[in-house]
Amino acid sequence: MEIQFLGTGAGQPSKSRNVSSLALKLLDEINEVWLFDCGEGTQNRILETSIRPRKVSKIFITHLHGDHIFGLPGFLSSRAFQANEEQTDLEIYGPVGIKSFVLTSLRVSGSRLPYQIHFHEFDEGSLGKIMETDKFTVYAEALDHTIFCVGYRIMQKDLEGTLDADKLKAAGVPFGPLFGQVKNGQDVTLEDGTKIIAADYISAPRPGKVITILGDTRKTNASVRLAVNADVLVHESTYGKGDEKMARKHGHSTNMQAAEVAREAGAKHLLLNHISARFLSKDVSQLRKDASSIFENVYVVKDLEEVEI
Ligand SMILES: [Zn+2]
Repeated sequence: MEIQFLGTGAGQPSKSRNVSSLALKLLDEINEVWLFDCGEGTQNRILETSIRPRKVSKIFITHLHGDHIFGLPGFLSSRAFQANEEQTDLEIYGPVGIKSFVLTSLRVSGSRLPYQIHFHEFDEGSLGKIMETDKFTVYAEALDHTIFCVGYRIMQKDLEGTLDADKLKAAGVPFGPLFGQVKNGQDVTLEDGTKIIAADYISAPRPGKVITILGDTRKTNASVRLAVNADVLVHESTYGKGDEKMARKHGHSTNMQAAEVAREAGAKHLLLNHISARFLSKDVSQLRKDASSIFENVYVVKDLEEVEI
């Protein structure tokens, strides 16, 4: 799986950074792409990637500020114009109000979609586990911003161990039903009396990945809870070192606070986004450098950049 950043800027677009959106590409796992936030122009950014809008099956919204949702009506409408492709339904998860925003935009613009949107709205009282399939569970928790805003913790379920076919062949097991039995965890006995213990030929289950994607927020314990042992934490960094007071006032975080969250949570990688246009490229290098004094494995992402998880 990969994360591809579609917009990494804060508040308004600049030439190099569009407003918030990222794609969690789960093509190998479930042949789907999940979008997190959808700022204005997200569909234009998608055109510069290999992402096919029809593959976007779920959209998770962190909060209702314009730079996180104004791209929805355009994206949803364009998704309908995929000739010769089957129209598939879409799920939208987000704070109460997202349904009315989307439906109003579509209605007043006379837009009719040939697919269904299923809305899953939540407020402070209905958070926790918001989605579960056989492969993934998604949790949401309220953060601390100027309006209701959540962070998401996406947990992949543990992956079954795989059969070492070469080792099994070397042990004298012929291809066929016996192979299948060992694969299913059954011990078997060969014609010559050799006992084959299935567990010796199947690798241990691999733990699923944990990805934490936060919306805009001040430093808060909820961020740490959502990011516990995460393989990747995506955290905003609207402000830089020394601007903690300003960050607090405007409901945001600094790079240093993001690094503290990653360290306290025991996350493996920290990716900083929601970067203000005030920062020139040398400032962006400094953002990373300063944050790395607290949490070493930190990186400031750019638009269209793809990160393997
Ligand atoms: Zn915001």
